[in-house]
Amino acid sequence: MMSKEERLASEGRVKILRFYPSMKELYIVVGRMNEYVVNLDPPFCTCEDFFFKLTQKKEKKCVHIKALEIALRDKSCEVFILNDEEMDQIFKYLVLDLLRK
Ligand SMILES: [Zn+2]
Repeated sequence: MMSKEERLASEGRVKILRFYPSMKELYIVVGRMNEYVVNLDPPFCTCEDFFFKLTQKKEKKCVHIKALEIALRDKSCEVFILNDEEMDQIFKYLVLDLLRK
């Protein structure tokens, strides 16, 4: 029986947006309902669990952060190559997407 994070990783739901030439990377995990911006170090995720569990100090990592760890380890991330010029656009889209929820 796979855990939720193993399933997310194995289903290729962890995406890397890699920007050239800066080589900056943005990690996105596509969940059932939403997509989340995730970071490993420091741990960060835009999902509800992360915010509420973290503020209550119950847990530091949500399922999306764990999925990112697994996907990076297993190299099962889907990588999208983008230009630095596109970064503004991506962030604008992500913010608008967050506000729509
Ligand atoms: Zn999360």
